[in-house]
Amino acid sequence: GRIPRIVILGAGYGGIVTAIRLQKELNYNEADVTLVNKHDYHYITTHLHMPAAGTDKPENARVDITKLIDEYKIDFVKSTVTQIKLDDQKIILEDSAISYDYLVIGLGGEPETFGIPGLQEYAMNIRSINSVRLIREHIEYQFAKYKREPHRLDYLTFVVGGAGFTGIEFIGELADRIPRLCAEFDVDPSLVRIYNIEAAPTVLPGFDSELVEYAMKVLEDKGVTFKIATAIQECTPQGVILATGEEIRSSTVIWTGGIRGNRMLAEAGLETMRGRVVVDPYLRTKEYENVYVIGDCSIVMNPEGRPYPPTAQIATQQGQTCSYNLVASIRNAPLKEFKFQNKGVVASLGKGEAIGVVGKYKMKGATAAFMKKLVDMRYLFIIGGIPLVLRKGRL
Ligand code: FAD
Ligand code: NAD
Repeated sequence: GRIPRIVILGAGYGGIVTAIRLQKELNYNEADVTLVNKHDYHYITTHLHMPAAGTDKPENARVDITKLIDEYKIDFVKSTVTQIKLDDQKIILEDSAISYDYLVIGLGGEPETFGIPGLQEYAMNIRSINSVRLIREHIEYQFAKYKREPHRLDYLTFVVGGAGFTGIEFIGELADRIPRLCAEFDVDPSLVRIYNIEAAPTVLPGFDSELVEYAMKVLEDKGVTFKIATAIQECTPQGVILATGEEIRSSTVIWTGGIRGNRMLAEAGLETMRGRVVVDPYLRTKEYENVYVIGDCSIVMNPEGRPYPPTAQIATQQGQTCSYNLVASIRNAPLKEFKFQNKGVVASLGKGEAIGVVGKYKMKGATAAFMKKLVDMRYLFIIGGIPLVLRKGRL
């Protein structure tokens, strides 16, 4: 009969791993696989805090997709998905349309603003190569502007909203970069303010409290001021207004207050929770058994019935199970249930500093920083083997 057509939307962690696995597992003429992504590169999101602060180049956080896949086996389409038509088994792209027999949705997340006024308009987000380029250029420009208007201390005030892992990793890099910018632009470092504002009673809510304390100490020593148990209530062109009524005047607000699923899932008529789809044990939607959802757009419940946090780690593992199940479906073989294997969490606090929990081991400082590099390199190895580790790995 006709060769089944698999379409993968998004070449993030989930999508690229699915594609790479399919090209390995499928036999000749068993299926046509098409991968669609907005850009012709995959971005290593877990590195983005560095180019955002300007401590590394954006080029180091991206890899050309055609270097990762075999174009004889997978059709790569560089385009933006504009609509998912599940009843018609059809995907509308900005410039064309494609139909599928099996669909994998791995379009990632979007910033969650909780409807807080002004965040959409005046805050920046760490989410893609283009968004971090903007942040880096913006930060440098504030130093340049300050030299012309030395009364404008808001140009030297930096606000990071949300102290989850994204906020903490970014502020660690920012605190490393500021002294260098001060030297470059001849600005007195004592005039710079770096705030991290967190609504919960602690930074990194839910994480090991001893490591949280360590992280705060490391970052405070680098000049970061934390405001915890303090929600951002509004973002304005002048800065932020906190729930306490206090205003912080700042020309740079980076919002790291969390993410939600890509809006196209709800628009496609799927049932969503904060934009994310609760998938069945095989990673399929409840509504359509030929539609898989993986990564930040999906929700997998842990044994206690709470969603696992959206991470690159789970997205990568989902990509592996998803590709297995696609191959099994095509061969009429039994599907495999997805089981998350938590390999731990390691978060960087800037150069040479990190915290982490791996199995029952807690780590901090140089050991954790080394572990972080190994975790990052392991992922490069999964998607691109030794050559990619050598090209993009950072030790
Ligand atoms: P993504 O990686 O977000 O990729 C989605 C892809 O879809 C992108 O390529 C995008 O261009 C494409 N796309 C989106 N919309 C469209 C469209 N309309 N048309 C076509 N293509 C589209 N997790 C960890 O486990 N460990 C870490 O150390 C870690 N560090 C992080 C550090 C930072 C600074 C950030 C921001 C996140 C970090 N995370 C980490 C979380 C992790 O990055 C995400 O959970 C992960 O990227 C989700 O993968 P994904 O496959 O769902 O989608
Ligand atoms: P998050 O949801 O984990 O954290 C957002 C933080 O913002 C929370 O602590 C929340 O209390 C706070 N917040 C929300 N509203 C606020 C308000 N109005 N004012 C002030 N603070 C507010 O989001 P994230 O940090 O972007 O992380 C997203 C996912 O990516 C998570 O699953 C995380 O584990 C993962 N991640 C992992 C790593 C790592 O492993 N190294 C790094 C980055 C991200």
